[in-house]
Amino acid sequence: RPTIGVLALQGDVAEHLRVLDTLDVHTAEVISPDQLDTVDGLVLPGGESTTMSKLAVRYGLLEPLRKRVRAGMPAYGTCAGMIMLADRVEGAVEGQETVGGIDMTVRRNAFGRQTESFEASVDIDGLDGAPFDALFIRAPWVERTGPEVTVLGSVPGPDGAGRIVAVRQGGLMATSFHPELTGDARIHRLFVDLVKGHA
Ligand code: GLN
Repeated sequence: RPTIGVLALQGDVAEHLRVLDTLDVHTAEVISPDQLDTVDGLVLPGGESTTMSKLAVRYGLLEPLRKRVRAGMPAYGTCAGMIMLADRVEGAVEGQETVGGIDMTVRRNAFGRQTESFEASVDIDGLDGAPFDALFIRAPWVERTGPEVTVLGSVPGPDGAGRIVAVRQGGLMATSFHPELTGDARIHRLFVDLVKGHA
């Protein structure tokens, strides 16, 4: 059984652990480089990406995270975690760092005031069964993707144009929404399969 870590600097850590604990994996909170060494894959939770970035620097985790991602550790980011895995961020604050790894540009708080929080049904590539009931909370969307990135799902934005909200690049996955909050473990299972080398 692989060990899946959840980056526990800030954000909805407990919710991710709760879902992962229903799957066939060991789980661990990660707030130190030593803890990072013990995991086979890492979930970066939702929360607030500028705070997460600052804390990653303060805890000496930013460089170790970059190193492990570069070395091929699978990782899955939700919302603020998606921002952390992006190579480029629109709407970043001064000094905001990311781990990077996914060749994409994400726009923070992209869905705007009217729809800061909403639910939508999303068809996710690679998921069997019904569309995924996705919860968005001040969510980013993906503006641009590089050639190595596969788009897994989109939703209509405020103007009706399709906006990318789920992507994969090799062992890295990211979603704008929060599957840890809606009681459907299929996306976490997809990530666990990826860590086990089955996806
Ligand atoms: N708006 C937040 C940010 O930019 C992300 C929100 C979330 O993770 N639910 O970091």
